[in-house]
Amino acid sequence: MFQEILAQIQNYHTIIIHRHMKPDPDALGSQVGLKEIIKHNFPDKRVLATGYNEPSLSWVAQMDEVADSDYKDALVIVTDTANTPRIDDKRYTKGAFLIKMDHHPNDDVYGDICYVDTTASSASEIICDFAQTVGLGLSDEAARLLYTGIVGDTGRFLYPATTCKTLAIASFLRQFQFDFAALSRRMDSFSLKVAKLQSYVFDHLEIDPTGAARVLLTQETLKHFDVTDAETAAIVGVPGKIDSVETWAIFVEQADGHYRVRLRSKEKVINTIAKRHDGGGHPLASGANSYSLAENEQIFQELKDLFA
Ligand code: AMP
Repeated sequence: MFQEILAQIQNYHTIIIHRHMKPDPDALGSQVGLKEIIKHNFPDKRVLATGYNEPSLSWVAQMDEVADSDYKDALVIVTDTANTPRIDDKRYTKGAFLIKMDHHPNDDVYGDICYVDTTASSASEIICDFAQTVGLGLSDEAARLLYTGIVGDTGRFLYPATTCKTLAIASFLRQFQFDFAALSRRMDSFSLKVAKLQSYVFDHLEIDPTGAARVLLTQETLKHFDVTDAETAAIVGVPGKIDSVETWAIFVEQADGHYRVRLRSKEKVINTIAKRHDGGGHPLASGANSYSLAENEQIFQELKDLFA
């Protein structure tokens, strides 16, 4: 299927790349990494990346200005996005041909070509695999972006989705010229306010004897620590550092009163719970939406029931 994707890239002059809303380093790394690879190998093509510019991740990449008219006769590629409602920038339907490249469970099969590899650690790993397989060269910047995405989605090679292929691809990317130490430091550091939020999470985490744990971050708490919803990404892994915690939910109250639920697990599959509550994601890392405190209780009960 990689050859078919290459053929479509060769076919089109304008290529617009999308990814999911609320981007993380893998969403941006795969999106702009692919853009850089196409530009590097086909300098005459017009390649654009679209979506919201997340301020806390501006150091990863910036988006382009994309006009409606750019979609005329364009190829659209969406990376790292399992389902169409989560695609950032709804104009993805306006191109001439649509390709999905993703590593989440393929719950929503969309696109004229749909390439999904759930064994890949990250969408960035897939983009690098694609380039290597079809013989496209990488620029240093593409390598930096893809390495960033892989480190982001694997928790720096910690999570079980890290395979020998992931490590081989990371090793390949490490051969390019980018400031590896600065990047590693950047991805391992957080602001003082996030550090304080982290200690709030440790202080307020409720740990059930089963190993299910939860914490609620209200709008008031976010305001108190002066952190945005996006910045809570830096504390999602925190409860898992505690040895007695097996699976956990971080309920983040949104401005409209509903809750974004960030679910993580060491071994028990939790995306089934996410799917029951307006969400989805990976077996051990998913997200859901809850519309009341009662639903929060229900989600926590479902986490505990995993151990029944
Ligand atoms: P997050 O907690 O937002 O970092 O999300 C963890 C994983 O779950 C990511 O792979 C997301 O793409 C996925 N995910 C998060 N929220 C949703 C949602 N509402 N629907 C589907 N997948 C989601």
